This record gives sequence, structure tokens and C-alpha cells, in this order.
Amino acid sequence: MDRLVDEAVSFATTTGMLMSAKGDRDHRHTSFTLYPSPVRRVEYQQALELTPILNRVTLGIARDHQFLRQALRETARADEPFTGRLLRIMAPNNPRIEFTLNRYDFFVNAYTKHDQQRGLKLIELNCIAAGVVTQAGLTTELHRMLHSYAASDVDDVYNNICADDMPPNDSVRHIAASFATAHAEYVRLHCNQDARMVMVVEPPFVNACDQNMLRWRVWADHGVDFLRMTLPEIEHHGRLQPDGTLVIENFAGIPSFSLSVAYFRTGYMPYEYPTETHWRARSLIERSNAVSCPSIAMQLVGMKKMQQVIGEPGVLDRFVDHNHANLLRSTLVKQYDLAFGDDAVQLAIHNMHDFVLKPQREGGGNNLYREQLRDTLTALKPSQRAAYVLMERILCTPARNIMVRNGKWCGCDVVSELGMYGSIVCVDGRQVENKADGLCLKSKSAQVDDGGIIVGVAVLDSPRLVD
Ligand code: ADP
Ligand code: MG
Repeated sequence: MDRLVDEAVSFATTTGMLMSAKGDRDHRHTSFTLYPSPVRRVEYQQALELTPILNRVTLGIARDHQFLRQALRETARADEPFTGRLLRIMAPNNPRIEFTLNRYDFFVNAYTKHDQQRGLKLIELNCIAAGVVTQAGLTTELHRMLHSYAASDVDDVYNNICADDMPPNDSVRHIAASFATAHAEYVRLHCNQDARMVMVVEPPFVNACDQNMLRWRVWADHGVDFLRMTLPEIEHHGRLQPDGTLVIENFAGIPSFSLSVAYFRTGYMPYEYPTETHWRARSLIERSNAVSCPSIAMQLVGMKKMQQVIGEPGVLDRFVDHNHANLLRSTLVKQYDLAFGDDAVQLAIHNMHDFVLKPQREGGGNNLYREQLRDTLTALKPSQRAAYVLMERILCTPARNIMVRNGKWCGCDVVSELGMYGSIVCVDGRQVENKADGLCLKSKSAQVDDGGIIVGVAVLDSPRLVD
């Protein structure tokens, strides 16, 4: 076991499965499971099928500003400085080029108190800054390497895995190709040959390895320059031209270039806009013809409140056909709007173990469970409740695995979340591309409530398909 773990840690650090706790140059390997975790083949296929459908649903909602404004009205009131402000600076018209890279997270082999049938259950839609795009694919490579490694011959688990059951997952190549498509459409539409892409980041650069490998993949495979800039740098160097072009001047030794795609790996939490300069930069990008990944409208689709709204009767059917809507509905669990009435609040207070209370925040570590959920709901004034949604608790069947953190291993029961990367590109309403871009499997101890890789709870994993 020690020898396997040693090899695995060396592989992780050598290939770039790295994070920096402080955002400096002191990197450690991202935590991972030693073995791929079981995912039922039917659920994997279903997740692949659902990804382009979810791309259509999220884009459909992002285009419908009236629907979005209406659905988020109470949330914006309760969360004026963030949700409210995003709504205020959202561009009034849909962009000519629409491009987004989302990640749809499902619990696998999951069920609820009221629906005992095992299957995929949608946890959330990530419509901004979905991370570990590179490390997700590297984890599959790690597990494939360990599987073929000589020391695995004596390892019971690897011995019983067939290589064909570990599906390939070249997430970074797929995602790089999607960015290149969006960039090429920009160059074509605006006849602009000097355009470059920018990844919008903010310190501390905890996840810079993951981000940089995507930038370099875009450069290596497609020859497009993909720079890193902070929001204040964009505000300082950016000049909005009358035709909408956002020109960046005198940055990184480049006299001038047009910004084709602005890819946000920041900007989803209020503290990521510490000054008015940050907000001005966001608004500048939104008003320009640069392709914003995501647009503010798309970011708002990822708000927890919207995920409750898509489960309401008839909503999905507005954006996709009935068969697709039904397929998607079979993965939704019940969510409650807390803005109106007291019934859901009382139900949750008296059954605190069966629910999760979610604020309109991203990135892990924000949700409330059990006593915290009960106490918060008891204390909240009715006017404050709209800042949260209440979600039925999803239960999962755990599987045995080994987690490797900081070079040390320990056995534990884990539950897994299957994240599907999905991208869509449209120009003037016409769909150019709509596809699944690989996956990310995250696992966490079955004993803990919340997840999240950056916050150190969940670890990287890869699927092993089982029947
Ligand atoms: P975030 O934007 O913080 O990632 P999520 O909705 O993904 O928000 O919640 C964070 C974590 O909390 C998830 O990764 C999952 O482990 C857990 N979680 C979220 N919703 C539920 C639920 N309905 N039932 C059980 N666990 C949940
Ligand atoms: Mg999440």
C-alpha cells in the first residue's frame, strides 16, 4: 500500500495535480482517492445524455431576462449588494456570441427519504468558474497508471478492475477546444485578427496550476494566446471602443489587443469584488462585445434560487422538449421557496436531518445542516428568508476507498459526486456547438455534510463503471 501511495503522490506532483493553500509557489498535491469509485454504467450514460440538455436549459433561461428578473426578485431584495447588483449591471440585450462552460453535479447511486429508487440526483448547476477542469482528467490518468502498475498485481482492488471500465476523460482537451471555437467565432464575426483570450482571476491564486494548464492547452492545440488578468488590471488597461470592442492596452508587454473571450475563474462571491474598481471591470466586460464566459445572466442562472425554480411545474418544458424535460426531472429533488408562507420552514425545523439550507453562494462550505439549519430558520425574519433555498436531503450509498492527503493515506467510506462539464456556443441565436466536455468525480467521506475540493473536504476521484 505504501508503495502504491508513493507512486500515486509522485504521479500527482509530477503531472500537475497541485494546489497552493496560500496562492504562493508552495504547492502540495491535490487530495485524491487511491482507487476509482464505482459509478453505475446507466447513470454515467444518463449524465452524458443530460449534459447537452442542461446546456440548452441554462442558456434558455439566461436569454429570458424577464423570467430571470421575476424569479430572482425576492432574492435580489434580500441580497441586494450581490444578486441585486449583478441584476442591475446585466446587459439589457443577449450577446451576439453566447458561450458558457458549466458543470452539472449529481450524486450517484442516490435516493431521498421519499424516493428510494437509486439513481442520479442533481445537486447543483455551476454556471461560473467550474474548477478542476485539468485535474479531473489527470485523476483518470492517475488511476489508469496505478491500474497498469506492477505493484497493483498484488492489490486486491486494482486486480479486480478491468481497464475498459475506466472511461477516458480528457476534460482539458475538450474544454480547450470549446474555448477555441468561441474565440474563432469572435474573430470571424468581428473580422478581428489581433484578438486574445483572458482568464479573469483574483489572488490568492490557489488553483493556478489547474487554470494554467488549460491556458497552455489552448495555446498548444489551437495557437490562441490566453492571458491571466485580474479585474483591476482589466479596468486599468481596458478601453471600450464605440463599436463595443474591448481593447486592452500596454499589458504584459503587448501594446494592444482586442479581448475575444473573458473566462471568469473569480467573481462568484461578494468578497471577490472588494472595491468599486472590481465592479467597474465586470460591468465593462458585460457592456463590451467580448464573449463573457459566463455572461451575468448565465451566472445568475446558477444561483441556488434558480435551481429551485427549474423544479417548478412547467418550467423545464419551456426550454426543452417534454422527453428531455422528463428525463431531467427524474434527477431533481424537492426544493422550497422560503419567501412565501411558513409551511416549509416549519417542516424543516421539525425534520432538520432531511433538509439542506442553501444561501445564494458558491464554492463549498456555505450550506447549513441539522442544528445549524434549525437554529438559522428559527432566527431568520421572514424578509431574510428569500436569501436561502431549502433542499431535500440527498442520501447516497457509500463505497469503500482510500483517501490520500498530503502524502498520507487513510481508508474511509466515501460518497461520490459526478460533475459533467458542458459547453455551448451560439452566434446570433444559431447553435454552433453543444457538447459534453468530460467529467469530474469528487468524493468525500460519507460522514461529512458539505463538499468542495478547494475547502479541503472533497478529493479528486475518477469513475469505475459497474453494472
Ligand atoms: P456549492 O456552490 O457550495 O458547491 P452545493 O450545492 O454544491 O454548493 O453544495 C455543497 C455540497 O453540499 C455538495 O457538494 C454536497 O456534498 C452537499 N450537498 C448539497 N446539496 C445537498 C443535498 N440536497 N443533500 C445532501 N448533500 C448536499
Ligand atoms: Mg458544489
